[in-house]
Amino acid sequence: MRKVVVVGSGAGGGILARELAIRGFEVTIFEKGPITFPGDAYNHYDIIKTGVEISKTECLGGTTMVSTGNAVRTCQSQLKKFNIDLEKEFDEVEQEVGVNLLPDALFGSGTRLIMENAQEMGFNMTKMPKFIDPRLCQPCGKCALGCPRDAKWTSQIYLKEAVKSGAKLIENSPITEIIQENGTLKGVKTVDQEFFGDIVVLSAGAIETPRLLQRVGLKAGQHLFVDTFITVGGVLKGINFKEEVQMNALLKKDGFLLAPHYSGLLAEKLPGYAPEDILGIMIKISDENVGKVRQNAVTKYTTGEDVALLSEGAATAGSILTAAGVDPTTLISTPARGAHPGGSAAIGHVVDSNLQTEIEGLFVADASVLPCAPGAPPILTILALAKRLGQYLAGKRA
Ligand SMILES: Cc1cc2nc3c(=O)[nH]c(=O)nc-3n(C[C@H](O)[C@H](O)[C@H](O)COP(=O)(O)OP(=O)(O)OC[C@H]3O[C@@H](n4cnc5c(N)ncnc54)[C@H](O)[C@@H]3O)c2cc1C
Repeated sequence: MRKVVVVGSGAGGGILARELAIRGFEVTIFEKGPITFPGDAYNHYDIIKTGVEISKTECLGGTTMVSTGNAVRTCQSQLKKFNIDLEKEFDEVEQEVGVNLLPDALFGSGTRLIMENAQEMGFNMTKMPKFIDPRLCQPCGKCALGCPRDAKWTSQIYLKEAVKSGAKLIENSPITEIIQENGTLKGVKTVDQEFFGDIVVLSAGAIETPRLLQRVGLKAGQHLFVDTFITVGGVLKGINFKEEVQMNALLKKDGFLLAPHYSGLLAEKLPGYAPEDILGIMIKISDENVGKVRQNAVTKYTTGEDVALLSEGAATAGSILTAAGVDPTTLISTPARGAHPGGSAAIGHVVDSNLQTEIEGLFVADASVLPCAPGAPPILTILALAKRLGQYLAGKRA
């Protein structure tokens, strides 16, 4: 039986572990963070303060624990350039994670107002596909803190299936190094132990995966993107938007998307107004991949191109919000942040189209491999790529 070590249990690691465990591989998953109940995931945020602030979580299930449940297919045309066609895998993962459009009853008045006014202005704002179970969801606005009702798909679901099929899960165990002997892959190390395997898959996310690769001499850590976003908002008395399902609608434009969104940072910038009276829209762009991950630092700044896209998005959002009744004299924006770090071990640069590095047996399955900034929720694409890798490894074994 071939031994596989999976490093990290987020979007890429969970599904990969499950794909291999159900096919009889001996799988061990190492997770840096602790086991957590979904509703407590906010305790495990790891925020990187750099030019554009970057958010991720370190716990069982990784950053999927705090996702907003948005499920969009991305990067298809860029992946096709590497002969990667994910349509079959997208169909499968969408079914597995339960992608659906939430019923009208789960749309609050703030989201409806934004959608109606966007429509009247000629913008085609549609419902956002979600991996949220409408039977369990009771809108509370807490998706990005971790769902208190466990109504949202997270990677923990795949991890449970992996463990049921025999995978071993070791939490609170960061991998510090990849072991090689005379250029041959042997396994991984924690601070005090070594673990051996025939195949090592790095799924530690786009900040930690390139650092592990750099330690074995691979040129990872360039081309970092984060899907930079801002939230523009202002005051609309009595709207009570804060507790609605966030990002429940989507307007796609060239290079950016808009989605109804409340941010606590807006409330901080509008002292004297109740948070319940704030209505906002997120602008998320496909940013330039100029960031860098080094062993002890991350650099990511906003380029002129990024600013142009953010400004266009902010102007559009401001018009929609004003039409929806927001007091235009109160409109403000949050600083630029990023919640989708990726591209730091990209296909074509660090891994091949089978996600293998130049070290035989060392693979990457997480957001690091994405060839470009999707400017849209990346989880479905990461899941589809990791599923494809699982099938490739299983085929190789046969
Ligand atoms: C607030 C927020 C909302 C989001 N909403 C959405 C959404 O609605 N839809 C969407 O598609 N995307 C969303 N995203 C983005 C999405 O969650 C991430 O893009 C995705 O989870 C990245 O997957 P990954 O496998 O690359 O990394 P992660 O999911 O971050 O997993 C990496 C895992 O590796 C572990 N790890 C790190 N280093 C080590 C190590 N050395 N050894 C062992 N383990 C290690 C980490 O603890 C973590 O568990 C959101 C992100 C944020 C922050």
